[in-house]
Amino acid sequence: MTLDLEALYIDLHRHPELSFQETRTAGIVAAHLMDLGIEFEEGVGQTGVVAVIRNGDAPVVWLRADMDGLPVEERTGLAYASTARGTDPAGNDVPVMHACGHDMHVTAMLGALERLAATKDEWSGTIVAVFQPAEEYGSGARAMLDAGVLERYPKPDIVLGQHLTPLPAGQIGVRPGTQMAASDGLTVKLFGRGGHGSRPHSTIDPVVMAAATVMRLQTIVSREVDPRDVAVVTVGSIHAGLKNNIIPAEATLELSLRYPDDDARQRVLARVERVVRAEAAASGAEVPPTIVTDHSLPPTINDADATTRLTRAFESAFGDGSVVDPGMFTGSEDVSWFARDAGVPLVYWFWGGVDPEAYAAAKAADTLDSDIPTNHSPFFAPVLHPTIERGVETLVVAAREFLG
Ligand code: ZN
Ligand code: ZN
Repeated sequence: MTLDLEALYIDLHRHPELSFQETRTAGIVAAHLMDLGIEFEEGVGQTGVVAVIRNGDAPVVWLRADMDGLPVEERTGLAYASTARGTDPAGNDVPVMHACGHDMHVTAMLGALERLAATKDEWSGTIVAVFQPAEEYGSGARAMLDAGVLERYPKPDIVLGQHLTPLPAGQIGVRPGTQMAASDGLTVKLFGRGGHGSRPHSTIDPVVMAAATVMRLQTIVSREVDPRDVAVVTVGSIHAGLKNNIIPAEATLELSLRYPDDDARQRVLARVERVVRAEAAASGAEVPPTIVTDHSLPPTINDADATTRLTRAFESAFGDGSVVDPGMFTGSEDVSWFARDAGVPLVYWFWGGVDPEAYAAAKAADTLDSDIPTNHSPFFAPVLHPTIERGVETLVVAAREFLG
């Protein structure tokens, strides 16, 4: 019996789950692995699943797929659109959608495992398939490592993974070196002195302090980072006050920072801290601001030799022009923790899910950014074919390239 991957994808898409809550998804993965006769373990790093296909001791290839959805209300209008709700960590009831394509990642992984298990006479070695929770929190890989995945399963010689992206369906995007940025999420608290809105002179106004800080932070990238370098400073959340005639006592900013490497990271972080402290001082704050790092992700760096080798394998499998260099993405990933902790190479590639005609039309009209929904958009809607098939094939080709 072969898996019906389209039905599997639609079912996963209809039933997305938030990070570390992927119990239904993990159960479906486990049920299919059971049907395929593949050894597996559930509950690894809370909701993770690890599957192992043993066909000789070496080499050991790890394949990784993430499983979580996002608190996004789906607006694709698809017949199989999600209407799911979930409870976020703050206890809020939120809509949930597979707006990043992790449902496609799981589908492709199960399809690839089925094919690899059925062709064991054509390869040798061991495949460890990692179904990871909570990529969107940036903490699922770490949870699985803390649960001992590197000690409990055959240690990898290479870690491979893939992500769906708004390229034309069938196309692959990968580059040697830095493929995705490092990132830090910071919470900044600014402390003023509250009071009556009619008597600003008797207060230290954290709203004005926050506004000045947000504006000044914009000058880090525009005035202080070398124009040839890449960095992002985004203030994604700003909260202060409850009422028009009360000057509040504090303001909270949440920042998302991105950079290609640790040097740039240190420089940007130092400048953010300098701006935050100086703006508080300029406002006359009596209590210095606090800056807390909520999460920190390393850059996703593709091993140069392995990436060159894999690009050749993809081109010979899918034809010349099937692989493009998509440039460095300013998004971030936690997949590289597996390779970093193991001290082995990583290759992480992207594959397209956009209707090729729609993509070509938007490109011709120079409207790619507005007309082609990206990951995390409520309109993110990969075409089913050939996206599913290509996602399976890329994993199989990549695994086979590095297996015996
Ligand atoms: Zn995402
Ligand atoms: Zn994602």
